[in-house]
Amino acid sequence: MTDSAPLDVDLALLGGGGAASLLLAALDRHEVRDLRIAVVDPVRRRGQDRTWAFWGHPGTDLDPLLSASWQQVEVATPTRRRVLDLTPLRYAMLRSGPVYDRAAAAERRLDATRIVAPAETVTDDGTRVLVRTGDGRTVRAGWVLDSRPRPPARAGRTTWLQHFRGWWLEADRPVFDPARAVLMDFRTPQPPRGVSFGYVLPVSDRYALVEYTEFSPDLLTDAGYDAALAGYRDLLGLDPAGLRVREVENGVIPMTDAPFPARPSPRVVRLGTAGGATRPSTGFTFSAMYRQADQVARALAAGRPPVPQAAYPRRHRWMDAVALRALDRGGVGGPDFFDRLFDRNPAERVLRFLDGVTTPAEEVAIMNSTRLLPMIAATAGDAAHRVRDRLRPTRPAPAVPPAVVSDPLGSEPGAGGAPRPT
Ligand SMILES: Cc1cc2nc3c(=O)[nH]c(=O)nc-3n(C[C@H](O)[C@H](O)[C@H](O)COP(=O)(O)OP(=O)(O)OC[C@H]3O[C@@H](n4cnc5c(N)ncnc54)[C@H](O)[C@@H]3O)c2cc1C
Repeated sequence: MTDSAPLDVDLALLGGGGAASLLLAALDRHEVRDLRIAVVDPVRRRGQDRTWAFWGHPGTDLDPLLSASWQQVEVATPTRRRVLDLTPLRYAMLRSGPVYDRAAAAERRLDATRIVAPAETVTDDGTRVLVRTGDGRTVRAGWVLDSRPRPPARAGRTTWLQHFRGWWLEADRPVFDPARAVLMDFRTPQPPRGVSFGYVLPVSDRYALVEYTEFSPDLLTDAGYDAALAGYRDLLGLDPAGLRVREVENGVIPMTDAPFPARPSPRVVRLGTAGGATRPSTGFTFSAMYRQADQVARALAAGRPPVPQAAYPRRHRWMDAVALRALDRGGVGGPDFFDRLFDRNPAERVLRFLDGVTTPAEEVAIMNSTRLLPMIAATAGDAAHRVRDRLRPTRPAPAVPPAVVSDPLGSEPGAGGAPRPT
């Protein structure tokens, strides 16, 4: 194919990662068969490159793909360990490999054209979108669904990162409780600016993902992540002599109130993190991606434009901006904030709130469970900052930095040997 012979499609997916994989699966599930589809990504995603944890109702098409799910989760602070029953929801773990396999099978059934090259320019004339790819091809699409990673349109009022390292630990005897996951464990030493916590996702009594996470402005060093994770392992009372690190997972996710425009032009729709699916106050993204994929597929199946609802309602984005500001400016301590949230609300309400699907009345209850004075101060600060933003030139947003990966020489052995990426 050359520039003079564009590939004509109804739908071009730019980016073939999490959001696109869930979309391909949704198109297949809704039996959308008569569309011409192209998927453009320089990388063909397969295998294990991330682990998704999320909550939701059981009984979706993802259930057969789950590695584990838990009806009960623990939230721990230095003063209390709370076990939450999530019924009717459940917390679930999905490794990326089965999701990419599911998407690849869907892609075959949908007879999509795969272009293994980057999308470079995207030109929308209002009726068609021309996409030029790095291998010199041109795709002419009715609609573009774009999930290529990108920084937000301008800098946010608060710019934090969720950054983490996890070890898949194999134990030589039963040490994990597969009936219960640790959702957030705030007994980790707290950073001077930010929030840290550990969590444990067991798939059996001998195998679990143990992770150290920070919500803060800056990344740690490689040795810093290893030290924090080794500290959390010790806090859990796990003996390093009886453990092997089987896989290492690193990641960085934006946590910011900066805007991620979801509709940059008439026929381009952004999905995934690039389209605002990452919840600013938690970094959770999966549920919004799944929800939007379903909405897009339903729309296409009904012959409507593939435009999903906003990932989160505007009022949730405002509440997140205030919460992030309160946490960043030190008005509210992270462990205290989440402790009160889970203490004063049914777990299901908190989780549905974090997914952006609560009613305004439930949100008032949620707001009432936070400390009033710091939240009022953060609300006032946020309002003043918005006014200042209108008066001064737009500041560009910093790009999300790449994750710090383990030193291949394994200078800081984690547990029973050097961590090794897979
Ligand atoms: C290690 C890790 C663990 C995570 N765990 C969770 C979790 O437990 N729960 C949760 O809710 N969220 C989690 N997230 C956040 C979020 O769910 C994931 O980042 C998710 O993969 C986002 O999907 P996406 O499609 O937006 O981006 P990606 O999955 O990153 O996909 C983007 C795709 O765009 C492609 N691309 C890049 N440049 C171009 C180009 N020029 N042209 C075409 N394609 C391009 C890339 O190759 C990639 O395949 C995690 C993130 C990471 C990194």
